[in-house]
Amino acid sequence: MPSFWKQKSLAEFSQEEWESLCDGCGRCCLIQLEDEDSGERHLTGVACRHLALNNCRCTVYADRAQQQPDCVPLTPQNLAGLDWMPESCAYRRIAEQRPLPDWHPLLRGDASAVPKVCNFAVSEAAIANTDELEVYIINDYES
Ligand code: SF4
Ligand code: SF4
Repeated sequence: MPSFWKQKSLAEFSQEEWESLCDGCGRCCLIQLEDEDSGERHLTGVACRHLALNNCRCTVYADRAQQQPDCVPLTPQNLAGLDWMPESCAYRRIAEQRPLPDWHPLLRGDASAVPKVCNFAVSEAAIANTDELEVYIINDYES
């Protein structure tokens, strides 16, 4: 499937092509906090409890919408409305007609250069009081 992402729209991808576009960075699995007054979103360094930090993969992927109600499985149809998705996300890049980065597995052939959040994130499951996630805000992290 040579450069299929350049030749098709997201809606035309096969399921295999769609899944291969995810680079496994895990950025969309970091918890975001929303300011109730301003609506502003703040990214934290806390990963969803279902993200395995040893390989940065979702442990409940096939059943994620049921296991984690605030997890929104991406589709070609809902992507445009998900403005909280990281700007670096491969799906967002393609939807916005931006190129994939050099480190993307589809270009490089392996995932060894993907900047994974699991290199620094802590798991929600390891935090005693999830009402105090403000201390984990990392707004300066490049999205
Ligand atoms: S941010 Fe995009 S590319 Fe990264 S893990 Fe999430 S869906 Fe995949
Ligand atoms: S359920 Fe899985 S895909 Fe959804 S946010 Fe959690 S780790 Fe990420």
